[in-house]
Amino acid sequence: IQEGMIEAEKLKVVSEIAASVAHEVRNPLTTVRGFVQLLGEPSLTDQKRKEFSLITLVELDRAGSIISDYLSLAKPQNQKLEPISLNEEFLETSHVLSSYANLQNVKMVTEFHSSGIIYGDKSKLRQAIINLCKNAVEAMPDGGTLTIKYFVDESDNKARIYISDTGVGMTKEQVKRLGSPYYSTKLKGTGLGTMVTFNIIREMNGQISIESKEGEGTTFIITLPLHTKKEEAAPGK
Ligand code: ADP
Ligand code: MG
Repeated sequence: IQEGMIEAEKLKVVSEIAASVAHEVRNPLTTVRGFVQLLGEPSLTDQKRKEFSLITLVELDRAGSIISDYLSLAKPQNQKLEPISLNEEFLETSHVLSSYANLQNVKMVTEFHSSGIIYGDKSKLRQAIINLCKNAVEAMPDGGTLTIKYFVDESDNKARIYISDTGVGMTKEQVKRLGSPYYSTKLKGTGLGTMVTFNIIREMNGQISIESKEGEGTTFIITLPLHTKKEEAAPGK
């Protein structure tokens, strides 16, 4: 009976998750459909055409990242563990994010003072960083600056990554709620981004701390162990 109960409970969770994925993904798709229709207007100016294509791309990416967030909740995927160059990683991340940031009048600044290598799954790390950067951009509705920087701390063999925005900031209570499922203050939010990010960083044996001030902005500080040869000798967990 016990077993049956657990199965029924699991099925309930699965169907709830399926329902929310469907719901969340439908919103960006509806937006995309509308703009694709507008793009077919012959009278459209070049300026508008560019703007609408950009919105279409951003919304499609949004649908994509909602799907990856839900997928990474669905547990063991094939992890590919490898050494990751933080310089390369952040270069690519800022490339991926630049059109989104542009659209919201956000200036992106990257600052690397050293070259750090960590160890883990590249696509997961990217998902974690992009979730934080997206939140940063979304916290600056009137534009602002998103700064990504990192330092290598030789004293404890760790890389310290700082992701800062000059946005709305959070109260202490809001900071405490970060990472709990479905916590969102946004109209179009899923409330999964920070939870997924926290899980990924924890899996990588890292830590996250948050400094935030209402009306001034927020900084996420991620500490990750630097790559040592040991891990390559005994890969996986
Ligand atoms: P979502 O972005 O879908 O709302 P997240 O889990 O990514 O879900 O974020 C949860 C909530 O945390 C957001 O709705 C927002 O209120 C708050 N938040 C996260 N990052 C920031 C930030 N950089 N500045 C201000 N608020 C933030
Ligand atoms: Mg988010």
